[in-house]
Amino acid sequence: MKNIFLFGECMIELMSAEKGELANTMKQSFAGDVFNTAVYLKRIFTDVKVNLVTAVGKDQFSLDMIQYFENENIATEFVFKSEDKIPGLYSIQLDDEGERSFTYWRNDSAARKTMQHIDEDTVAELAKGDMFFFSGISLAVVEADARAKFWDLVTKLKSAGVQIVFDPNYRPRLWKNEAQAKEQFDKAFSQSDMLLPGIDDFNSLYGMDNFDQVNQFLAPYQIDEIIVKNGPETVISVVQGVTEQHHITPVQNVVDTTSAGDSFNGAYLGARLNGKSIIKAIDMASKAAGFVIQHKGAIVEKQSFTEFTQTHLI
Ligand code: ADP
Repeated sequence: MKNIFLFGECMIELMSAEKGELANTMKQSFAGDVFNTAVYLKRIFTDVKVNLVTAVGKDQFSLDMIQYFENENIATEFVFKSEDKIPGLYSIQLDDEGERSFTYWRNDSAARKTMQHIDEDTVAELAKGDMFFFSGISLAVVEADARAKFWDLVTKLKSAGVQIVFDPNYRPRLWKNEAQAKEQFDKAFSQSDMLLPGIDDFNSLYGMDNFDQVNQFLAPYQIDEIIVKNGPETVISVVQGVTEQHHITPVQNVVDTTSAGDSFNGAYLGARLNGKSIIKAIDMASKAAGFVIQHKGAIVEKQSFTEFTQTHLI
């Protein structure tokens, strides 16, 4: 059985009800980029062992969150329980035009201290995995004084033969400044065997708004497999230096693009772990993302997603 470890933060999500309903009616769920990726990966590729590496608390929200992971068949051996911290929280509110605004309470979350829970035995277990996935948000959430320990973990996993995969999701407000983000991203690019960037993130951090600039910037890092996402535009792969374009079918009825990139990543990683070709993996990933963005929320209701998977992702 293939085995992937995904390192990141899952938060409590509060979403305001539909427009026109009482503003104080909030629907509670759980979400976070790496967690969303894990959910879609496991839903599509049930035969892959999908492990989250994170920390929660011992409060009821944390227990419910762990239950939610288990309901999605995500392995929780490496979901650590902090004695004194609780999960991060964010809300999504809709204005009269349907525009979403996000508010976060995550500065002191349990997940920020995940590295405190990782000892040599944990490293040895993670080193048995096939892949280790983290994002730019995972990196921002690791506290500054734990970063050396995080890179030490990544280095050990890489030298044990674990494939290192990075999605440079960039959220400016999580970083002290751009220089700090660039310094950490540079380390991530240097360690990555596979990279799943979106043009948007490169645009906000490096001011690069097209594939050629991104490709040129990444060339010195010699990353084996780079898959560049760009909303409804063509997906571009650069594998062992060879560039190929993959046309996707744009979706007309886009409802919520929250986890477009995350669902793409989940399907892509699962497909690659299962030995599918890059062309097939991109086809599955873009179909999965295209379905997800026609639904509200980060995580699409399980039954309709499973039906879609069975009919469209074979
Ligand atoms: P992110 O969430 O990282 O910003 P993107 O917006 O680049 O991700 O989208 C990720 C993937 O989702 C794209 O590569 C594409 O496969 C799919 N996707 C996004 N927007 C559309 C769309 N309008 N129509 C069809 N597919 C889309």
